[in-house]
Amino acid sequence: MGNIEGRYFVAGSSASQDARFELVDGLAMIRLADGSQTYSGEVALVSDRLGNVVRKITLYDGSLFETPDNNGVDELFDVHKSFFNRLTHIESSVKLVAILAVVTMLVLFGAYRYGLPILARVAANVTPTSVLSLMDAGARETVDRVIFSKTKLDDKKRAVISVLFEDLKKQSGQIDPPLRLLFRDGGILGANAIALPGGTVIITDQLVGKAKSDDEIAGVLGHEIGHVELRHSLRQIYRVLGISFMVTIIGGDSSQLVEDVIAQASALENLSYSRKFETESDYRSAELMVGLGRDPYAFVELLKRITLDKGEKSDTGWLATHPGTFDRMATVKKYVNSLKP
Ligand SMILES: [Zn+2]
Repeated sequence: MGNIEGRYFVAGSSASQDARFELVDGLAMIRLADGSQTYSGEVALVSDRLGNVVRKITLYDGSLFETPDNNGVDELFDVHKSFFNRLTHIESSVKLVAILAVVTMLVLFGAYRYGLPILARVAANVTPTSVLSLMDAGARETVDRVIFSKTKLDDKKRAVISVLFEDLKKQSGQIDPPLRLLFRDGGILGANAIALPGGTVIITDQLVGKAKSDDEIAGVLGHEIGHVELRHSLRQIYRVLGISFMVTIIGGDSSQLVEDVIAQASALENLSYSRKFETESDYRSAELMVGLGRDPYAFVELLKRITLDKGEKSDTGWLATHPGTFDRMATVKKYVNSLKP
């Protein structure tokens, strides 16, 4: 193959010497004027042709070969296909592939960690009430079919709790989606309360049964109202949809590693995500309870009782839908103290 005359710069040095560049089986070979060979290896980058500007051939050890012989360079690297040739060169470098893989993962993780929650929040906030109502109705139908059954609470008890709920509703000022309360026997969910995306809050007979005061029940209702106001379940749904979408577009020809990283990240992230939402709702409950002159800590006592109850398995009850064994009481106390002027 042909060769080119030019100047050779050792990596990091501005001193140069006359040298000859050869390409042998795709590898660069630099010979100094005295015939000694000073470099043999991969070409990292060939600068583009720009008029009569000196061409630079960057080598993998960081050294540089410069030549005014534009035609020679074009001939040697077959410049008409050179972009793809160079890509092939780049891809053959383990180092660069590793760097590209890391950059790809960082971009994906960034999109996942920061982009997705923002998109989910925006999507949740602009989702119209009509859609929320449909989702609500669908979810309600499902939970009634597979989990809940008709409440066995008497009218008097329900009336008292309904008044608590109305007070909290007024205190929150939540209008869209509208809040409403349903009573159900909890079935396998036991002592629990859930908030559907469209504003329906469901409280189970078992939870009411475990409560020792109205404040305990009101605090839980306030927590669920917080989930509705902050559109938590909707944001959770959009996030899960977003993750599967990302995995699908990446899944095509990505390495297994990238998928594993995303799967791991999403598992970890879901835990802290739920916990973040739980804390937000705890704070909202405390705000509403303080506003109504009620005990903002009572509901934490109720949750503790449910969790510690021997008859309650730890994977059912409140913990099944409200994970987080973090120190709720300390967190809520700190927050309530911050509310005081
Ligand atoms: Zn919750």
